Amino acid sequence: MDKLFSPWRLRYIRAAGRSRDRGCVFCRAVRGRRDRKNLVLVRGHRNYVILNKYPYNNGHMMIVPFAHAPSLEGAPSETLQEMMELAVRCETALRSAYRPTGINLGMNLGRSAGAGIEKHFHLHIVPRWDGDTNFMSVVHGTRVIPESLQATYRRLRPLLLAADGAAPHADRARGRSMVPAGKAKE
Ligand SMILES: [Zn+2]
Repeated sequence: MDKLFSPWRLRYIRAAGRSRDRGCVFCRAVRGRRDRKNLVLVRGHRNYVILNKYPYNNGHMMIVPFAHAPSLEGAPSETLQEMMELAVRCETALRSAYRPTGINLGMNLGRSAGAGIEKHFHLHIVPRWDGDTNFMSVVHGTRVIPESLQATYRRLRPLLLAADGAAPHADRARGRSMVPAGKAKE
């Protein structure tokens, strides 16, 4: 993942630093019910899936625990287990929507490791295609994201819901308790 050249992410990292006083962006995103606006794709019992506002590639998602914590240490096994179950659903949705030739999954724990939001750990899921690093760095160092975030959201959300069967543990109840994005307040 760190081979990708993505200068627009500087804006994100700086913004994350500045917004520290106003609270954690991950906690804020999930507190409200404006899931579509906040790019929250799916809510589980202990984690949720959100689109990255400053993606490395189209379809760059993050799985974020509800609990605000900086590291894996002390995370309940139920949280970690659900995180991986959601990762399976993300993989299924990405393969169906974008036909990537590879997928990166990764965590950056701590600022030195590249964490933009270091106080709330999360798992990145980034679809990859042959040659995408070359493609993205070639164009004048500008941001090359051909699909809008809302278009990505509309594309991935139904696929994530349909991939429910990939995580059999009480997932159906989860789907019912979720606020449909279309009915969430904007
Ligand atoms: Zn937080």
